[in-house]
Amino acid sequence: MKLPKIRELLEAVKAFTHKPYTSKFPFQPHEPYPSFRGQPEYNVDKCLGCLTCEEICPAEAIAHQDNTNGSAPKRVMIHYTDTCIFCGCCEEACIADHEGIKLSNKWELAFFEREKAFETIEKDLQLCEICGSVIACKDHLKWIAEKVGELSFSSPTLYQFRFKSLGVVDDNIVSAVKDYGRSDRVKILCARCRRETTLTTA
Ligand code: SF4
Ligand code: SF4
Repeated sequence: MKLPKIRELLEAVKAFTHKPYTSKFPFQPHEPYPSFRGQPEYNVDKCLGCLTCEEICPAEAIAHQDNTNGSAPKRVMIHYTDTCIFCGCCEEACIADHEGIKLSNKWELAFFEREKAFETIEKDLQLCEICGSVIACKDHLKWIAEKVGELSFSSPTLYQFRFKSLGVVDDNIVSAVKDYGRSDRVKILCARCRRETTLTTA
């Protein structure tokens, strides 16, 4: 007969004297380790709506939808919890100091209806004041204007936006005339309308 090794004997003795390694879930709540990588969650106050996380996500678990109809255009950021692999690339790449989306310690993610397995946040969108096409989220434009500092005065879109976000210019003032004129050169415009305005009013 083969004799048990000393290590195995010690493990057997330890098993008698120690608490079990497993928890009594579901009768007791399970506490994940601090470094546990659970479901990512958006922080609507920190997220800029820049779409970097959507670009970087290897599982295509992030998408967006731009709703431009109505008086308050919005970008809806969508995180699909059923396809997410909890890799953390979104948090790693987030330009908002990794605060726009963060892995949480949420791990109980079972659901019955797959079409409901997503979470969303909404961000205000800035549209071109002439053609109405999407430029970027307002928070993103403000972030860029603050990043580039005085260089933002080389771009009418950036400095006008900064003035509006500072309250120096009324945010509700938009051009009623949807045509190219000299006054349009200092409006918030998309690249195409900026080019057309500059060329036709030179
Ligand atoms: S954790 Fe990974 S898979 Fe999940 S949303 Fe972020 S980048 Fe995509
Ligand atoms: S700010 Fe961060 S979380 Fe928000 S869209 Fe950009 S990368 Fe994603």
